[in-house]
Amino acid sequence: MLEIKDLHANINGKEILKGINLTVKSGEVHAIMGPNGSGKSTLSNVLVGHPAYEVTKGSVTFDGKDLLALSPEDRSHEGLFLSFQYPVEIPGVSMVNFMRAAVNEQRKYKGLPALTASEFLKLMRQKREIVELDSKLANRSVNEGFSGGEKKRNEIFQMAMLEPKLSILDETDSGLDIDALRIVAEGVNKLKTPETSCIVITHYQRLLDYIKPDIVHVLYKGRIVKTAGPELALELEEKGYDWIKKELGE
Ligand code: ADP
Ligand code: MG
Ligand code: MG
Repeated sequence: MLEIKDLHANINGKEILKGINLTVKSGEVHAIMGPNGSGKSTLSNVLVGHPAYEVTKGSVTFDGKDLLALSPEDRSHEGLFLSFQYPVEIPGVSMVNFMRAAVNEQRKYKGLPALTASEFLKLMRQKREIVELDSKLANRSVNEGFSGGEKKRNEIFQMAMLEPKLSILDETDSGLDIDALRIVAEGVNKLKTPETSCIVITHYQRLLDYIKPDIVHVLYKGRIVKTAGPELALELEEKGYDWIKKELGE
């Protein structure tokens, strides 16, 4: 599904990613944890093609394609989805219109006809139920005046609509109360299939009580310094990150 080899990336001329290697197979859930400032968001931004980041070395293959050669739009059309740490508001654009444009653009890319209005509304209703998103929110402007929990739920809804092959959730848990956290996690779990994968980026173990990772990585100073099973997340919760720094001889 995703193969990252020796990935180096800069922002403003400063090297942030210093040789990332990561392989995610179909059906797998990976967690990436690590102290603040390690490069977790940089990695997700580089993967979706944020223009502020410069890849200086390495390669990324996504479903057999050279991901780095694709435009950000085509990465999304190919089935990559990023849930942002800070979702943007789009005043004046209703969720319905926003999602209809997104879904139909993706269908066009795949050579499929646009959905009719009634087909689209049916799809929207189905997916809204998965994430328990209030129908009123669907008619409001994208994220405008949404609470933190509503924005996050809305993102999982967008994810449900686009049916990505690989979803990256970057600190989707920050600012969520426990009920919203549960609903978001349940949404992610319901959307999980043997053909789809997920990378959950989180500073805390909390979200991983609900979204069970198969593999846990620690990203530190732009490198993956440790990879293990789900027990690693519990160990980090208990002991923090200092023991990893000690292991690295710091
Ligand atoms: P994390 O998500 O793990 O907290 P980030 O990827 O956000 O880490 O940041 C990694 C490093 O990149 C930090 O040292 C941060 O200060 C730096 N950084 C992020 N954005 C910029 C930017 N626009 N200009 C310069 N440095 C940046
Ligand atoms: Mg951070
Ligand atoms: Mg971050």
